[in-house]
Amino acid sequence: MADRIVALSGNPTARKFASQLGVSLPPVLKRDSEAWAEQPLAGKSVLVLGTTGAELTAPLATALARSGAEPVVDGDLAGFAEAGEAWGRPPKAAGDEEKVDVIVFDATGIRDIAGLKALHGAMQPRLKGLQKSGRVLVLSRPHKDVAGIEASATQRALDGFTRSLAKEVGRKGSTANLLVVKEGAEDRLEPVLRWFASPRSAFISGQPVVVSKTVRRAEDKARRPLDGKVVVVTGSARGIGAATAATMAREGAKVVVLDHPSADAQAAEVAAKIGGKPLLLDVTEPDAGEQIVAFAQEHFGGLDVVVHNAGVTRDKTLARMKEEHWDFVLGVNLAAILKMNEAIVPALGKNGRLVFLSSIGGIGGNVGQTNYAASKAGVIGIVDTMSARLARKGIAVNAVAPGFIETRMTAAIPVATREVARRLSNVSQGGLPQDVAETITFLASPGAHGLCGQVVRVCGGNLLGA
Ligand code: NAD
Repeated sequence: MADRIVALSGNPTARKFASQLGVSLPPVLKRDSEAWAEQPLAGKSVLVLGTTGAELTAPLATALARSGAEPVVDGDLAGFAEAGEAWGRPPKAAGDEEKVDVIVFDATGIRDIAGLKALHGAMQPRLKGLQKSGRVLVLSRPHKDVAGIEASATQRALDGFTRSLAKEVGRKGSTANLLVVKEGAEDRLEPVLRWFASPRSAFISGQPVVVSKTVRRAEDKARRPLDGKVVVVTGSARGIGAATAATMAREGAKVVVLDHPSADAQAAEVAAKIGGKPLLLDVTEPDAGEQIVAFAQEHFGGLDVVVHNAGVTRDKTLARMKEEHWDFVLGVNLAAILKMNEAIVPALGKNGRLVFLSSIGGIGGNVGQTNYAASKAGVIGIVDTMSARLARKGIAVNAVAPGFIETRMTAAIPVATREVARRLSNVSQGGLPQDVAETITFLASPGAHGLCGQVVRVCGGNLLGA
């Protein structure tokens, strides 16, 4: 069921009328569902704020210039000059009334509480210049990796700061996220930064992401990142899976559209639209993994990426939950994945990728979802263990945890709960399947080699979800 209030929000007359009545409508989020571009930040003005000792100036300068951004620097202008000139994007010194699309605050050099004051001093006067649907990115170091208790507390403080700021800027459709860059992974920052600075991350906010060199390097591609890759998306006849299959095909992937035999017609339609192949299969079949591998090899000659998306709910409070509700949800959402992976993992090609669908229900819990939340938290357990194990083989393992996304699954939620769930996000609305699809596509791309073992919430900062 479409969100009528968000639809109304897109109408200028309705917005004017609402504001005369003193009612605030949710912001209209800027999104981008076109194919990836060579310079995704072209025409975007990026304000760089930093403090003495900022450790990521060089990779940041290169990332911005190469992505086509126009850097506006409040601080060490010289650090941005060389890269800016090399890519025809000379940095500009920040003036007082700067209007910008993105603010990047490099906080990696802050080691004490006094230094944290720069968050207030440098950022506070600049926020009013952030355009609607803007992005704030704070760069930090993992707090456990810096020496000294105060330094650790200081770096950890950036997490709370960013989550709170995310709630404040959400009213204008803007987001704030924290990129935690491990020592030695500085050269993996660029693809992550340009993706999080782009409109594709419209529904991710208040999210820390760790950039590491856990997994083997892969050749980063700004355009058609999945060219030639063979991808299987389970549960892709509709909803998030269908959007993911289409988005991955848009970026060059050969897609197996897998769904339950009962979704025959829909799977065939999705596959025909994107030039993929439908595979009708119940993921709980004992040899589902073997069937997936054989099908991908037969039709496309290999297997590079699997998106474990098929999922079900059977919501009941535990007191009223029958054994079959428990077994059904745990069976599809967790046990089937474990079993399929036994056959899938050994068949994955070089720089393989596994992307799992968790849920914020699995992080924050939800009334009536002990079964579902257990299964989705279990998925995070799989990611934690497998990411460490498979990184050595060059396979990156990550999860997305959607919040409230407008699909058939959430259309089944009772109307009052659904309305509350939508408005609880920082941007006062639910996300779209496309928001999750873009995130999964990014995680599957070679340039996401800095992310491994991450659970990326696509929830607009919400903490309640299906
Ligand atoms: P959906 O119900 O619209 O689609 C799920 C798909 O999985 C369907 O096409 C269904 O036929 C397929 N499927 C179910 N059981 C299957 C089986 N045994 N074998 C093969 N296919 C099977 O759901 P959605 O909202 O698009 O959700 C997709 C994923 O995202 C799920 O894992 C869900 O738990 C997760 N998720 C969704 C939300 C949300 O708000 N929609 C929030 C958090 C997490």
